Amino acid sequence: MRFKKRVENTKRGYRILAKYCPGLIRAKVLHSIAKTVLPFVTIWFSARIINEISNDRNVSRLILYVALTIGINFILSMIKNVMEKKVNDKESGMWNYFSKVFSDKQMEMDFVNLEDPDIRKQKQKAEENLFMFGNGLGQLVWDTSGLVEVFIGIAASIALTVSFFTSKSGNAVIDSPAWIAGLLLIVILSGIITSKLKAKEQDVFEEWTDSNVWFNRAFMFYGHELYSDSARAKDVRLYRQDRFADREMQKLQDNNEKDNGLLRKMSSCQSRLALFKGICACLCYLLVVAKAGLGAFAVGSIVQYVGALIKMVESFGELSDVISENKIYTEHLEKLYEYLDIPNRKNTGNVHIDESILKSGCEIEFKNVSFKYPNSENYVLRNINTKLNIGMKQAFVGQNGAGKTTFVKLLCRLYDPTEGQILLNGRDIREYDYVEYLKVFSFVFQDFKLLAFPLGQNITADTEVDVDKATECIEKATLSERFAGLSQGLETYLYKDVSEKGIQISGGEAQKIALARALYKDSPIIVLDEPTAALDPIAEEEIYSNFSSITEDKTAIYISHRLSSCRFCDEITVFDNGKIVQKGTHENLVKDESGKYAELWNAQAKYYRTA
Ligand code: ADP
Repeated sequence: MRFKKRVENTKRGYRILAKYCPGLIRAKVLHSIAKTVLPFVTIWFSARIINEISNDRNVSRLILYVALTIGINFILSMIKNVMEKKVNDKESGMWNYFSKVFSDKQMEMDFVNLEDPDIRKQKQKAEENLFMFGNGLGQLVWDTSGLVEVFIGIAASIALTVSFFTSKSGNAVIDSPAWIAGLLLIVILSGIITSKLKAKEQDVFEEWTDSNVWFNRAFMFYGHELYSDSARAKDVRLYRQDRFADREMQKLQDNNEKDNGLLRKMSSCQSRLALFKGICACLCYLLVVAKAGLGAFAVGSIVQYVGALIKMVESFGELSDVISENKIYTEHLEKLYEYLDIPNRKNTGNVHIDESILKSGCEIEFKNVSFKYPNSENYVLRNINTKLNIGMKQAFVGQNGAGKTTFVKLLCRLYDPTEGQILLNGRDIREYDYVEYLKVFSFVFQDFKLLAFPLGQNITADTEVDVDKATECIEKATLSERFAGLSQGLETYLYKDVSEKGIQISGGEAQKIALARALYKDSPIIVLDEPTAALDPIAEEEIYSNFSSITEDKTAIYISHRLSSCRFCDEITVFDNGKIVQKGTHENLVKDESGKYAELWNAQAKYYRTA
C-alpha cells in the first residue's frame, strides 16, 4: 500500500476513534509523552549529578539537580498515572464502541445487502480484523503509544547524544567518524531487518486469517448462535440437534488443527525478531562503553550517552516496528473501510415528503413491476399493475409463495423492483428521502420482532413516550386488560434479558403489541402481514370487527390466508404465482366460480361446513 494511502487510512481511523471513543487518543498521547520523557529526565539529571559529585562538588547546584529530578519525575509520573487510568477506562469500553461502528453501518445499509452472501463475508472479514486478531482500529489505538514514544524517543536521544559525537578526546582513533558511521549502520540495519521479519510475519498471518474466516463463522454458529437464540434453542433441545452440532464442531476443530503449521511459522518469525533486537542492543552497548573506556568524556556523561544511545537504537528499531505495524493495520483498516463504504442506494433520494402527504394520505401505484430476488433466476412478481387509493382498506390473498409479502417488501424498499416503477403520488419512490419515505408507512411483518425494552419504548419506538397516545393504541389493539395490573405500566420491561422484573408475553400478545406500535406511528398507510396469525379465534374476531375503527381513515393493506377475515375490506387483490389474477369485493369475487378466489374460498369454507 502506498505511503499516501496509509496516511489517509490512519487519519480516517483517528476520525472514527474521535467519533466513537472521544478522548481516548488524547489521553493516550499525553500518557505516552509523560512515559517517554520520564527516563530521559532521569538520564540527563543523573549525568549532571554524577559529574557534579566527581568534579566541582557544588552543593547548592547538586541540591538543585536532585530537587529538579524529583520534582519533574513527580509531575510526569502524576500525568502518566492519571492518563493511564483514563486510557484503561476508555480502552476497556472501546470494543463495545467498535461494535457500534458496525451496527451503525448495518442500520443504514440496503436491506438487500444484508442478505448478500458476499457482503456478509466482507462484513465478517472486517469484524474479524477488528475484533478477533487485535488489528485494525484496536491496533491503531495501541500503536498510537508506539508512534508517540518512537518520535519523542528519537528526538530526545539525538539531543542527548549530539555532544557524544562532537566531543573530541584528542585521540584520532576515538574521534574517528567511523564511530558515528558504525552506529548509524546498526540503526539502519536494525530498521531494515526488523521490517523484513515483520513483513514475513504479516504474510503468514494474512494466510492464516484468510483460512480462518469460514472456520470462525461455522464455529460461531455451532458453538454459540445455536444456543444463544432462544427461538433456535427450543428446537435444538427438542430434537437434540446439539449432537449434530458437536460432531460438526469436532470436524472443524480437526481440520483446523491441520493448518497449525502456519501458526508455527509465525512464532518462528517472532523469535528470530526478538533475537535480532537483543544482538543490536548488545552491539550498541559495547560501542558506547568502548569509547567511554578510552576516556573520551567525563564519568557522569557515560550514563547519559549509554542510556541515550541505547534508547536511540531502540527507538529506531521501534520506528521500523511502528512503520511495519502501520502497514499492517492500515491494510486491515482498508477492509473495514471497504465494508463501511458499500454504497447505500436507498439513501440516494432527496425529495422531501410533504407534511400534507402524512396528514391527508397518498396514492401508491405499482407500474409494470417485476421482481426477482438477488442471486435468483426466477421472477417472484411479474408485471404487477395496481393502485392503492387513499383511505381504501385492501386485502391481499393468495397461496403461500404467491408473492404477497414480496410486494410489501418492495413497497417499503427493502428491495427495489427489477423492472418497472413504484410511484408515490406520481413520483418514483426511489426519488424520495428514504427516512422521510418510511414515515408514510406503518408495517407489521409476519416475522416482526419486539425488543427486550420497556413496553412503552416498544410501542412508541421513541425515547419520548406519549403516555395517552400509547394507552389509546394499547386499547385499540385489545391489550388493556392484559397490562392493566402492571405496577410499572409502560415502564414494564418485556422479556427478562435486561430486567429481572421483565414479563414474558405470548405470541398473540406480542402480535397485539406490534399492532399497537404500528398504530402509534400513525402513518397514512398501514400494512399488516398476517397480523392475527398468532391470535386465538376470539381475539382475532375482536380485532377484525373493530378493524375500520382501529385503522380509522388510513389506507390499509392487509395480507391474510384467512379469507373469512378479508370480507370487511373495500377491495380484495388475489395473487397467484407472482401475478395479480383478480381484484374486487368479496361478493363479486366469490361469484366467479372458475376464479382463484372462489377456489381458495371453497377450500377453506369446506372445513367450516363439515365442522
Ligand atoms: P407470500 O407472502 O405470498 O407467501 P412471498 O412473497 O413470501 O410469498 O414469497 C414469494 C416467493 O419468493 C416464494 O417462492 C419465496 O420462496 C421467494 N422468496 C421469498 N423471500 C426470498 C428471498 N429472500 N430470497 C429468495 N427468494 C425468496
